[in-house]
Order: sequence, then structure tokens, then C-alpha cells
Amino acid sequence: MNADAPARVSPRDSLGRLIALQGPITVARFMAEALTHPRDGYYMRADPLGAAGDFTTAPEISQMFGELIGLWCADCWRAMGAPDPVLLVELGPGRGTLMADALRAAATAPDFRAALDIHLVEASPALRARQEDALAEAPPSWHNDFADVPQGPMLLIANEFLDALPIHQFVATAQGWRERLVGLDDDGFRFVLAPGATPACALIGANPIGEAGAVLEIRPTAALLARDIAERLAADGGAALLVDFDKTGPSGDSLQAVRGHKRHDVLADPGSADIAAAVDFAALAEAARGARVHGPVPQGEFLETLGLGARAAALAVNATPDQAAAIDSARHRLTAPDQMGILFKAFAITAPDMPAPAGFATS
Ligand code: SAH
Repeated sequence: MNADAPARVSPRDSLGRLIALQGPITVARFMAEALTHPRDGYYMRADPLGAAGDFTTAPEISQMFGELIGLWCADCWRAMGAPDPVLLVELGPGRGTLMADALRAAATAPDFRAALDIHLVEASPALRARQEDALAEAPPSWHNDFADVPQGPMLLIANEFLDALPIHQFVATAQGWRERLVGLDDDGFRFVLAPGATPACALIGANPIGEAGAVLEIRPTAALLARDIAERLAADGGAALLVDFDKTGPSGDSLQAVRGHKRHDVLADPGSADIAAAVDFAALAEAARGARVHGPVPQGEFLETLGLGARAAALAVNATPDQAAAIDSARHRLTAPDQMGILFKAFAITAPDMPAPAGFATS
């Protein structure tokens, strides 16, 4: 299908019906419905990850990613005073690959591995099934929402989870910031501007008006999540590691869709493509006041500091030439500046009394 062709909206389509009924909706609502609508949502129906799917993530590129994060967690656990039990929480675990790799690495520290109480926050039944398979030997508990995870000393990890949380977009006009909405015409979904202030305009705060047409992105659910995580870490101890592609500050239009490893029109055939937007780590840092924040640090630098080179060399010892080439190529994809090395960033939130975790020592 031509990604630029406007999508015909089927009358059965839930988003089309919603807009036909109540008028244009916010970009945040559009994103939430497109990704996690219980019946039509992109993540709810199938497993979109991997070479045969729509996009590939760091844990799917190499086992080394999850292994290094597992060791990072073990390190943090010792800095916390080795609490037993300790919650190991993952937000949006995809196929469960990162967690499976992290647990295998954690097994090299048996006292740490034995202390782990594993909790996954996952909206998708299809992906929960994949996670259940991947983690058959370490059955986790599942939750729809982070708020449902029990309290206690905690290690939390999330890779490419925050980018899926809905953003509000605002466009600079002569009348001030106006929220960008998604409407519907005969040819399909269309971006329109709200004629006046919308409730989400309250989120803009002190952001000065930009040049006409400038776009501002604000993700209130991520700020709330960062605040919740920070409060729990300050109360019970622990550390959270959030990895995602970032933007510096709220400015700029980063909304994008991907299908079959290619850019896709965000508004075309929602539910059939992944939709994501860059993460504003500065906004998360602001929301996490009360805890300590570390980074963001470029992913390449973070992984190399954690020992990616040594891990790759260890894996290469028993590898065939083809396997050794695959290990090299995975390391390159994860760390090279023109690959994921700079675009993706690692960011940590810790209890205020924790030392800077591994990989963040200079922050
Ligand atoms: N962390 C995995 C998967 C990233 S894709 C990896 O790196 O491979 C995003 C993940 O977040 C998927 O598991 C998706 O189902 C989940 N997800 C997206 N929005 C969610 C929400 N609002 N609540 C819970 N899980 C969500």
C-alpha cells in the first residue's frame, strides 16, 4: 500500500466513529486509541516486533543489551543494601527478551537472582503471551498499570516504553498555542487546529510562544509516571533505568509511524502501524524531583561503559566466524553514532541517597 495515500475510513473503524460522533480528538487520544484500543489497538492484536514485524528494538538486536542491564540491576541492588525481596519491574516488556536476558545474567549473582520478585506492566494480551513463553522459568506477575505494582524496594527497567505513551501537540499561532487535533473528512483523518483553548493547554505552562507553525509536545502520562516512580524510590529505595530515543526539550514535531520497518503516514490506517514520539527526558527529570536523576547518557556510551566490548569478546570466543560477525554487527547497531548510539539515551532515577549508578558516574 502507498503510505502517502489517504486512508479510507471504514464506518466500523472505532476511531472514525468516535470522531464522527464527538468531533476532532487530541493527538494524545488518537495515539492512545491507535496503540492500545482493546480491539483495534496496534499492540493489542499481534506481536509487532522483530525482523518479520514492523520494528526492531535493542533487546531484539542482541542478548548483550539485556545481559548488561541485568548486571546493572545487580550492581544497583548491592548499592541499595541488597534488600530481599526486591521488586524487578519492567514496563512494556515486548517479547520478554530483555527480561529473559537480564535474568540469565543475574543468575551469575545467585543471591540477587533469588531475591527478585518480577512484575511486568503490559497492556497487550498478545505480548503477555509472548512474555509468558520467554519467562516460563521465572513466572512474573502482570499489571495493566504501574500504579498496580506493589510497594517495596524496586529496580525498574523500560526500553522503548515511554515513546508509546500519548503526547499532546500544540502549534504556535498568532493567537498563541493552539492544540493540534485529529479530525475526519471524506478522504480520511486530518490534522486540524483547535479554534480556541483546550483543557490540555493548561499543560503548556511557561513555554514561550514559538514562531508561527512551531510545534510543542507534552506527555503528561510520562510526567505522572516519573513522579510516581520517584516517590516510590524516595520512600522504599531503588533505581529505575529508562532507555528511549530522545529530544532536547519539548520543541519540535517528533510524531512518527513505522510499518514494515518503513516510515508510515501517522494518520493512515491507525492500528496498522506503530506510532511513537521522542521522549523529553528534561520533562521527566523535572517531574522526578524528590529523587535523584542521572543522565541522559547516549546509549552507545552507556553500553560501552557497562562493558559491552568485554561481553562481545567473551561471546566471540566460542563463536563461528558468522556468529562473530553477527556479534560485531549488533554491537555496531547498538552503539555507532549513525545507528542507535546517540539517538537513544539512558536515563536513571534513583533514591536520593544512592550513588550514581554504573554508566552514569560522571553525571
Ligand atoms: N521493551 C520492548 C518492547 C517495546 S514496544 C523492547 O524493547 O523490545 C512497547 C511495549 O510497551 C509493548 O510491549 C507494548 O505492548 C507496551 N505498551 C505500550 N503502551 C502501553 C501502555 N499504555 N500500557 C502498558 N503497556 C504498553
